[in-house]
Amino acid sequence: MTREIMGKIHSTESFGAVDGPGVRFIIFLQGCHMRCRYCHNPETWKSNEEEYTLRSAEDVLKEALRYRSYWKNGGGITISGGEALLQMDFVLAVFSSAKEKGIHTALDTAGNPFTEEEPFFSTFKRLCAVTDLFILDLKEMDEEKHKQLTGFSNKNILAMARYLSDHGKHMWIRHVLVPGLTDEESGLTALHDFIATLHGVDRVEVLPYHVLGVPEWEKLNLPYTLEHVKPPTPEEVARAEKLIGTFA
Ligand code: SF4
Repeated sequence: MTREIMGKIHSTESFGAVDGPGVRFIIFLQGCHMRCRYCHNPETWKSNEEEYTLRSAEDVLKEALRYRSYWKNGGGITISGGEALLQMDFVLAVFSSAKEKGIHTALDTAGNPFTEEEPFFSTFKRLCAVTDLFILDLKEMDEEKHKQLTGFSNKNILAMARYLSDHGKHMWIRHVLVPGLTDEESGLTALHDFIATLHGVDRVEVLPYHVLGVPEWEKLNLPYTLEHVKPPTPEEVARAEKLIGTFA
């Protein structure tokens, strides 16, 4: 029954190498409420019918399983977005079946839909039970700056990190480094201090801002507000990594 649950699929990738351990099958879901100024996948934002393929959890899992022989060294399935937590029933269906088959599951999320209110929270707790790894973007510690960067508060996102920490879940934490926007010393130090209070963090990474997604903004006729911003230099990345205290 659960396997008949449908998901709005943006795309799949057979040999992902960065979104979780080992080689992974990545499922990118359609739809995200945030509007990060540096988003490199703005085509995943809207949930219009022409933007996605509707597929069952069983069908997507069947496709993923074709690649199982490559999932050595902790590889498996990652569900990403868009924002995967907007389609929790689908993620739950895929991961529940995957766990029955002994497959490693990772959820790549920015945490924006997280709330301890129902009906979200009950499903989230069930999802936690079948998710081996959460890959969580922490975009900005200061709430006002987070709003300017993404259009939303970060309170519930930090609460989600806290919840995962308190409930023994494994996490990778990522921070996109945008020169002049998310690279202030105070912000990076605050991020370091917050991460230091969490349990279960297996990796902390800085992702350098890049401009590969800009043509997508142009194609969608969306105003891109960071056209003056250049990707960080290796020295700027090293400085941020030191301040945040990255490790793998
Ligand atoms: S959360 Fe991710 S998909 Fe959504 S706008 Fe931000 S970068 Fe883009």
